[in-house]
Amino acid sequence: MELSKIWLSSPHMGGKEEVYVKEAFDTNWVAPLGPNVNGFENDIENYLEKEVYVGALSSGTAALHISLVLLGVQPGDEVICQSMTFSASANPIMYLGATPIFVDSETETWNICPDALEDAIKDRIAKGKKPKAIIAVHLYGMPFKADEILKISQKYEIPIVEDSAEALGSTYKGQKCGTFGDIGVLSFNGNKIITTSGGGALVTAKKEWKDKAVFLSTQARDNAPHYQHSEVGYNYRMSNICAGIGRGQMEVLDSHIAKRRSMNDFYTDLLRDNDAITVFKEPNEDYFSNHWLSAILVNPEKANGRTREDLRLSLEGKNIESRPLWKPMHMQPVFEKFPFYGSNVSETLFEDGLCLPSGSNLTSEDKTRIKDSIQSFF
Ligand SMILES: *Cc1c(COP(=O)(O)O)cnc(C)c1O
Repeated sequence: MELSKIWLSSPHMGGKEEVYVKEAFDTNWVAPLGPNVNGFENDIENYLEKEVYVGALSSGTAALHISLVLLGVQPGDEVICQSMTFSASANPIMYLGATPIFVDSETETWNICPDALEDAIKDRIAKGKKPKAIIAVHLYGMPFKADEILKISQKYEIPIVEDSAEALGSTYKGQKCGTFGDIGVLSFNGNKIITTSGGGALVTAKKEWKDKAVFLSTQARDNAPHYQHSEVGYNYRMSNICAGIGRGQMEVLDSHIAKRRSMNDFYTDLLRDNDAITVFKEPNEDYFSNHWLSAILVNPEKANGRTREDLRLSLEGKNIESRPLWKPMHMQPVFEKFPFYGSNVSETLFEDGLCLPSGSNLTSEDKTRIKDSIQSFF
């Protein structure tokens, strides 16, 4: 009998989701508005523990797109983006006809490198264009170097779009991720720490930006009895059904984080004595990662020449999903012609890095299978 598949990260329902969804059906709020949408937004606002406004949208990508629209990004503008990320961080720059400028990572948090960022800004200004925004990402739930990045943003007066799609519940110096940028972005896709089956949110301290985001996301309808439009709109609002799932998921978010973090402890214990492998961890107590995905670096020199790809294939043979880290955007065919600032940090991380099964719903049998498979590989 074939063993069931162990996924990297799969949806994990808490129980109350169906109650909220049923309520939506019972009251016929089957639409991209309704009490669950407002309730879900309130739940996130309370969770983030800051004076922020949250707009629930159809995806994290939509939230990134609307963020750039709010910041006034126009065709021909330049937007800085962390190179090591999922393509959704960069695609909205292209939707607007703007130019992505990619920046390398540093080795501690794997996120945008402050030095390379400042080099990029200075050089773009010297070449005649000041970038319109900086998209910085908290990869795998690990907060980026917020103090340093925010300082650069203030020094050059370039706003930050904080891609917190992977980092709901992570904190830096006690402050929740999603609340550092001029605009924060969350995702509730199926593989994220909580899911609405598909969805996202925009976070901002400015009420007028939240209102504008909702306005743009519902086709930019002016206040008139007929359909009247003075701006280009989008159909990006979250549905009341999805928001119902989200309300149920918010009730189990902290317990999901505890479980994901315990998966990271599991790998740390398992690989403690293996000097070919480094488990990705917080650099110091300022950082608290939700450990959405646990990741490792495999050093082939210390692993008798075997690479992360050998390990990945070996796990695949046992029906266990693992995946290389995000392939940097400046190495992607679709983006390779755009400027890149930095050295080979993200490239090396991509070559040696592997994400391991990290779901909050993994059973102790799953863990035993993972443990046996990794041990038999080494
Ligand atoms: C998932 C993800 C997104 C996009 O979110 P969707 O809800 O899938 O559109 C953006 N950025 C990062 C870093 C992500 O991991």
